[in-house]
Amino acid sequence: MPIALIVHGGAWAIPDDQVEPHQAGCRAALAAGWDLLSRGASALDACEAAVRLMEDDPIFDAGTGSVLTSDGTVELDAALMDGRSLRYGAAANLRHIRNPISLARKLLVGPATMLVAEGAEQFAVAHGIPLIENSELIVERERALWEEWKAGRIAPSPESHTSPPPAESPPVATTVGGHDTVGAIALDQSGNLVAANSTGGTPFKLPGRIGDTPMVGCGLYADARVGAVVCTGWGESIVRVALARRAIEMLERGASPQTAAEAAIRVLSHQVSGGSGGCIVLTPGGQIGLSWNTRRMAYAYQVEGVQPTWGV
Ligand code: ASP
Repeated sequence: MPIALIVHGGAWAIPDDQVEPHQAGCRAALAAGWDLLSRGASALDACEAAVRLMEDDPIFDAGTGSVLTSDGTVELDAALMDGRSLRYGAAANLRHIRNPISLARKLLVGPATMLVAEGAEQFAVAHGIPLIENSELIVERERALWEEWKAGRIAPSPESHTSPPPAESPPVATTVGGHDTVGAIALDQSGNLVAANSTGGTPFKLPGRIGDTPMVGCGLYADARVGAVVCTGWGESIVRVALARRAIEMLERGASPQTAAEAAIRVLSHQVSGGSGGCIVLTPGGQIGLSWNTRRMAYAYQVEGVQPTWGV
């Protein structure tokens, strides 16, 4: 059974000057997860390590460096699914957690599958995860963008899909994008598949808004018998087609992971007006699939016996 790991760093119109740091962040996450996997660690450990690294990397819209809500604060969502037990843990609308993926992992064993806001943070404290100030998650780049947006000098780009839709916004000189949600899928030596993702959501989102990322079947799904999928992009469009399950159903019908990924993204493009995003897929045999309909998607992957691959 080959081990394998794939990570992504978001699907959107990543600007040219951010390509290199996105690539570097994905490669570093891949290396951290691979180091564990290749020493026999579980897919859970590898995914958590890879996603934590990207949460701590301020280039990504996850953990530190996330986009700001319309209120100028950070609200985070994350989830993890274990493909063998079909256990799933998710935490959303977090304001004081540095690494939401580690909280999601704690929820894999219950007693709830998803916790949000204060309840989730109380659970975190009870399980040894410290709370931090919301301001610790905010970086200067995002604060400056929020101030520009507040002043009406910039608007979300067509690929940001915040509310109100950009087409209905008054014309402004510059637009700002941002779908740097991060995700990972690992296949370990025991043949287990785990899917994980973490996000700060969409730029200037309404406080309390939760997208696809922590929703099972939408932002992620893992079934060790068939494969695992992690999605990124405009959450409101992804949930409408339950994108992760779309790709899984294709795998169940015998499609290759690449065909499944492309078919799922076609559904997103064709069935939801303005639907945009990308997905990564990994099968129990270590085959990779990836597809996106945005300008770019940052990714990196490695399969045992083959050199790592990355791209944007
Ligand atoms: N899917 C995320 C959300 O809508 C955003 C992203 O993937 O960047 O919250």
